[in-house]
This record gives sequence, structure tokens and C-alpha cells, in this order.
Amino acid sequence: MRFPDFSLNGKIALVTGAGKGIGRAISLAMAKARADLVVTSRTESDLISLVEEIEGMGRKAKFIIADLQDTKQVKELAEKALGAFGRIDILVNNAGVSFPEPALETSEENWDKTFNTNIKGLFFLTQAIGSYMVERKAGKVVNISSQAGVIGLENHAAYCASKGAVTLLTKVLALEWGPYNINVNAVAPTVIKSPMTDIVFADPEVRAGMMRRIPLGRFGDPEDVAGAVVFLSSPVADMITGETLLVDGGWTAQ
Ligand code: NAP
Repeated sequence: MRFPDFSLNGKIALVTGAGKGIGRAISLAMAKARADLVVTSRTESDLISLVEEIEGMGRKAKFIIADLQDTKQVKELAEKALGAFGRIDILVNNAGVSFPEPALETSEENWDKTFNTNIKGLFFLTQAIGSYMVERKAGKVVNISSQAGVIGLENHAAYCASKGAVTLLTKVLALEWGPYNINVNAVAPTVIKSPMTDIVFADPEVRAGMMRRIPLGRFGDPEDVAGAVVFLSSPVADMITGETLLVDGGWTAQ
């Protein structure tokens, strides 16, 4: 009998958007599961404190500053990350942005920021790390999509379109890289308490409208997402690929 193994012991993970919110919780949860980490975002102070926290848990961590909207920086990030501890076993594509606004008011600037971060940067980072994983014939990729990549959400045209792209990209990469022993999955959260959703939580009407759509009767915490990411990164999920795991309290069950 082979018992389920949820440990990330001995693994090196790269987490994007690691400084705040969900990415920070994912990084700490992976450290708790005994991974060592390379963490990245654009804000140095966030990453310095995160590295200190991870080291305080007895794990190793290094940080790299990069803007995922810039393909040159994305390629440099991949090279530096692979050099940090000599390899990357797990890539968590968590960084993302959202600019809630009606479709008729969506500017080209916000559309580009959304797509360049949420899907273009994600793709080229995954391509760069993936080519190394293909050579090694091992690796796990976990993309943070959204329930908004599976269903429509009013006032989120660019965001939903970009996250829908993440959901389908996850399937394509699972097909192409399965023969190389690489698992590619996504986690799709509902509304989670994080700096991104401060705007939702500030408006009682928007907040109540969203809450009515969550059968479990609460918004998610970053830790709810982190658990799903650790699961999909661990040996327990070796037979799962191309999947988008909804962490949505039942929102999309309706
Ligand atoms: P957040 O609190 O706004 O944090 C986003 C992180 O991404 C920050 O560390 C940010 O750091 C980084 N980031 C943003 N743009 C970047 C760029 N161009 N280059 C590099 N790093 C960048 O967001 P969150 O709520 O934790 O969301 C994390 C992920 O979950 C996103 O993909 C989001 O779409 C998804 N999600 C969130 C929710 C939710 O309700 N919160 C629901 C579903 C899905 P810097 O600004 O310092 O770079």
C-alpha cells in the first residue's frame, strides 16, 4: 500500500506575486510543507520580510524583483530563479491584477496591464521554466486562475477573459508536457480577503451581493487557496493534470 504523501520535502518552488495576499500565504504554506523557495514580485520590502519569515521556519528562501509585464524581465527572472538553488521543481504562477469596471468603460491601458500580467507574463515564465522541466522530465506547474476564468462576472471583462485564458492554457500545457512527467494544473478561487479585494470589502452592497452567491456563507482566506496549491504541488497529485480546482465555497455549483 502506498500512503498519500503531501510533503514538499526537498523541493524548490518559484512563487510569483509572493509578496502579498494569496501568494504570500502560498509561499508560507509551501515552506511549512518543507519546500525551499524563490519568491518574486515588484516590491522589495514585501519580499525581504517574506524571506525572513520563511527562514524563521527553518527553510531556505531567496527573492528576485521582476515585473511580469516586461518579457525581458520575465526571461531574466527565469534564469535567476533556476540559478538560485540550481533547479526549480514547482512553479506557482500566482501574480495577477484586476481593474473592476464596466466593459463599456474598460481602457486599453487596463486591458493591456491585465493581459500582460495575468496571461502573457505567466505564459513566457512558464515557457522558460517549462523548457528546463521538459529536459529534466519532472516538474509541477500550478496556475492561479479564478472562478472568473470559469464563469462570467459583471464588470470584469478583461479579468474574466485573461483568467479564462489561464484555464485553457493549463489544459494545453498538460497535453503537451504530460509525456515529460510534468503536471500542469490551476486553482480557481472565489472572493478571497487580500489587498486585491480591499475595494470589494469596502462597499457593503457589493460585499453582500457577493456573499449571497457563496453557499458556504463566507469569503475565502488566502490559506484556503494555499492548501489547494500545496495539494497540487505534492506527490498526492501525481495523477492529476489539466485540472482547474475551484476553491469557491460552492459559488459555481449553481
Ligand atoms: P494581491 O493581493 O493584489 O497580490 C498580487 C501580487 O501579485 C502582489 O504580490 C503583487 O506585488 C504581484 N504582482 C502584481 N502585478 C505584478 C507584476 N506585473 N509583476 C510582478 N508581480 C506582480 O492579489 P491576490 O488577491 O493575492 O491575488 C493573487 C492571485 O489570485 C491573482 O492571480 C488573482 O487574480 C487571483 N485571485 C484572487 C482572488 C481574490 O479574491 N483575491 C480571487 C480569485 C483569484 P507587486 O505589486 O509588489 O508586484
